[in-house]
Amino acid sequence: MTTDTHRRHVLGGIAAGIAAAGLPRLAGAAEPGRKFGYAVVGLGSYATRQIMPQFKGCDHARLVALVSGTPAKLEQYGTEYDIPRMHRYSYADFDRIRDNPDIDAVYIILPNAMHAEYTIRAARAGKHVMCEKPMAVSAVECEAMIAACKRANRKLMIGYRCRFEPYNKLAIELARGGHVGQTRIINAEHGFYAQPNQWRLDRALSGGGSLMDIGIYSLNAARYLTGEEPIEVSAVESTDRSDPRFRTVEDRINFLLRFPSGIEAMCVSSYNSAHNAYRVVGKDGWIDMEPATQYDGHVMHIRKDGVVTPRVLPAPRRNQFQAQLDHLPESVFANTQPITAGEEGLADLRVMEAIYRSAREGRHVKMGA
Ligand code: NAD
Repeated sequence: MTTDTHRRHVLGGIAAGIAAAGLPRLAGAAEPGRKFGYAVVGLGSYATRQIMPQFKGCDHARLVALVSGTPAKLEQYGTEYDIPRMHRYSYADFDRIRDNPDIDAVYIILPNAMHAEYTIRAARAGKHVMCEKPMAVSAVECEAMIAACKRANRKLMIGYRCRFEPYNKLAIELARGGHVGQTRIINAEHGFYAQPNQWRLDRALSGGGSLMDIGIYSLNAARYLTGEEPIEVSAVESTDRSDPRFRTVEDRINFLLRFPSGIEAMCVSSYNSAHNAYRVVGKDGWIDMEPATQYDGHVMHIRKDGVVTPRVLPAPRRNQFQAQLDHLPESVFANTQPITAGEEGLADLRVMEAIYRSAREGRHVKMGA
């Protein structure tokens, strides 16, 4: 069996098991005054430095459980966040979260290739899912995750935090509303210098290089700033294969997306140069963001009628992380689809697969063809 076939077999088996297993009662998340409980799965850098400290500022979410393969991390963060021992799980006993009514959802912050398995196991345990980007390492996996959550009647949301960040929300409103005239071109650039010896550089765990990790911000921004889905993709990859970091994954992969309205997005994705910016160019000016998608410190300038002005927004009551964490319980309580549901992650994976194909085959690739 190839690795891919094996993965599909395992995922298919898990998904089928959900139907057979029957589902536990939905935890009482809707009880008045009760905050929605998250179990964070994977206690790495993003989980411990960015996400876990945010719960204290959330309106509806709280941290109630931890999942890790490292007992010392469970001890350290369990103590720091006052998580009872019974609410600390290893990967081996992850499925026991099913019996913990305090856990309403899991937040999966693991290497990309593990997202599908843990999403499907969480749905099987009757839990809602927040899953980090990229949603998975293939569109086929994304489809299995969506199906598993649907079958379990649980919400699936992807951690696209920028959709909850005020500057990005304003940029969406202005760009789609024609504030600088009809959008013609989008430039989006994302990259950083990738340190050696990490899972991101191991295709088996990451599913790909800069595109999967950071170029996805260029792609996702092009999609959210236009509100359209690309119809054609062209990409060029430049990777120095003698650099030991890039034995199995790509370094730079730049791509052009054509949208139905005629908008073109020119996107940079790099593991060897620092970028964090986008610019929406309309008939009458532009909207510029740099930094555009960082954790904080966003800077926006608008050129309209020949005049460039900065736009400064007041600090929000809830930052992007807190608003993102609250959005899943808000969607559960209102029984609405999260704005960054699994379908959003799937849409990115479909385009990323087309980007890789275009670079590999040296031709334009039509979406859906
Ligand atoms: P990390 O390496 O810091 O953490 C990964 C965690 O997974 C570690 O705790 C590690 O012990 C655990 N793990 C379990 N099995 C593993 C295995 N087989 N190999 C390696 N690690 C294993 O990575 P990170 O930066 O926290 O990224 C985790 C996820 O979060 C990724 O999907 C990444 O794309 C995403 N992320 C999102 C953002 C964002 O802004 N939304 C930022 C950073 C990371």
